[in-house]
Amino acid sequence: MGLREAAAELSSLRAAYREAAAKGLSLDMSRGKPCSEQLALSMEMYDVLREEGDYFSEDGSDCRNYGFFDGLPEAKRLFGELLGVGEDQIFIGGNSSLNLMYDVIAKYLLKGALGSERPWGKEKKVKFLCPAPGYDRHFGICEALDIEMIPVAMTPQGPDMDRLEALAAADPLIKGVWCVPQYQNPEGTSFSDETVRRFAAMKPAAKDFTIFWDNAYMVHDLYPDRRDRVLDILRCCEEAGCPDRPIVFASTSKISFPGAGVAVIAASRANMARIKALTVPQTIGFDKINQLRHVRFFGSAQGIAEHMKKHADILRPKFELVEQMLQQELGGLGIACWTKPLGGYFISFYTEPGCAKRVEQLCQEAGVKLTPVGATYPYGKDPDDANIRIAPTYPPLEELASAISILCLATRIASLEKRLEQKAA
Ligand code: PMP
Repeated sequence: MGLREAAAELSSLRAAYREAAAKGLSLDMSRGKPCSEQLALSMEMYDVLREEGDYFSEDGSDCRNYGFFDGLPEAKRLFGELLGVGEDQIFIGGNSSLNLMYDVIAKYLLKGALGSERPWGKEKKVKFLCPAPGYDRHFGICEALDIEMIPVAMTPQGPDMDRLEALAAADPLIKGVWCVPQYQNPEGTSFSDETVRRFAAMKPAAKDFTIFWDNAYMVHDLYPDRRDRVLDILRCCEEAGCPDRPIVFASTSKISFPGAGVAVIAASRANMARIKALTVPQTIGFDKINQLRHVRFFGSAQGIAEHMKKHADILRPKFELVEQMLQQELGGLGIACWTKPLGGYFISFYTEPGCAKRVEQLCQEAGVKLTPVGATYPYGKDPDDANIRIAPTYPPLEELASAISILCLATRIASLEKRLEQKAA
């Protein structure tokens, strides 16, 4: 395209953008939240116990009272079934897995992990490997706890394992790695079998190197017949002779209610013993009424799978709409690419390098709020200024369409501006 043509196209795109912006929209695509229809799917949970008037655990204990520090037996069984481990490898916490992650790391900083020579906080520095783009709140935990973050690029099969293995093997101060193995936030892709096996076969310099395996989206498939399945990291590590390396986290935040669900840890028996010993002084126990509600409402892992199909029916059209619109508006232009996840909560969108912040600004000025550009990278710095996390779950279809249409216009404008700038320079 010549200079003159580019300038003409830019001016017509700007006219379309001004028209869209004049509508005074206020659309939010910034966080991966379930929409209200999804939340309604679980409301019956609040009637189950009251209707039955039965607040007793299967062993006869009253769940309204103290007891069961590490979780109700039936809740451990349910989550054990879901995560593929025995009840003795499950710890049920409160309402948030992120809270459990922060807490385990804080405990290790104060007291050390299994096999640590000293508390992590007594090392001259603690570093974590951070596959990026990744989940901003993982990076937030590191920043809050003064853990240095080392980015490792994501590939469609998971993190760049050559680099990850080499970094961990060379530096004993690298104590951990963040992983979202299934339908990763924000890529929406899942770790391949080879990636999981390589995590289990790693030879890190730190003996207490820990994999923080955040399985937030393990049952969040969009298509019943096409879904990603990720190998069981606990089993792989056990087979590889490092059973204590991974700690698995999950929650029902995006199964029942974010902020009012149940969060769990699955780990080796030795890690369980350590985590429980470190948690005993902290609480007499978590919310067992909520655990009981969840068990009675879902019944089994199969019950959760059935429930997740209802979520998928609500979410599929939203993901498909985004894919369709991106393809229609940007396909073949060579100025953007994006992932096509089979599950999870996000689509990862890439502009040309150096354009994402401008796209964010244009979207914002037209009333579309995106996840801040850069948030998907450690320290909020996307080295390419290219990644935008699209969170399509919350807005209704019509609003989503308006937001994506503005995102597409903004992407085309930002690309043309860049091109003209470069030509002028
Ligand atoms: N991990 C990931 C990867 C997430 O995307 C989210 C929610 N956005 C969480 C954890 C938060 O989970 P919870 O509500 O259990 O703290």
